[in-house]
Amino acid sequence: MATALKGMMTRPSGSHRDQLVFAAIALTNRLADGWSFGARYTAPEDPAECASIANETCERFYRKQTAFLPEQADELKVMANRLHDVLLDLALDDIPTAIPKVNTMLAEHPSALHLSEKPPYSLHYQDHSVPAVQGWQVACCAALASWVSSNSTQYIRCCAALRCDRLFVDDTRSGTKRFCSIQCHGRENVRAYRLRQAVAAAEKAHRMPRL
Ligand SMILES: [Zn+2]
Repeated sequence: MATALKGMMTRPSGSHRDQLVFAAIALTNRLADGWSFGARYTAPEDPAECASIANETCERFYRKQTAFLPEQADELKVMANRLHDVLLDLALDDIPTAIPKVNTMLAEHPSALHLSEKPPYSLHYQDHSVPAVQGWQVACCAALASWVSSNSTQYIRCCAALRCDRLFVDDTRSGTKRFCSIQCHGRENVRAYRLRQAVAAAEKAHRMPRL
């Protein structure tokens, strides 16, 4: 990453906007299809379980939106997969591919951006009058769009472990976090160790005199 760009990046601060991006990542990690910890991952089929996971996940970041309901499970999974798709583009720093996807999602629901009417005046992204899926989708997309415009998407990472596409925000000072979890870090250490052992064994076999 260019040094000049690093200086322009807005560090995640725990603002409402940042909490929405964290929520989008947490939601996709639980409900988007793909790979996780070395195995194929699909969201639970049970609608009640999906809604429960989404509520439990999103409540950690924002509590005022209406709850996800089991009958919204299919929409919820579609939203999670679409957000995951965009977040993967952003993690790969493929902004030109991500932008039309974000704009399409923003266009599907009217913007809910508004300022609070009493101090401290803050920008709100959530529309409390719509069902949870629409409310979270428009809010997460608006927050992601804001991250793109402030170069904060540089903090979004995809796990570097084999067969894992779960996402995380790397806000460490060094910016060198590579894995979504301790499990994936451990798996990669084991894999690297086995690879070194195999290379050493192959080299040893190559050096052995033929009889
Ligand atoms: Zn991982």
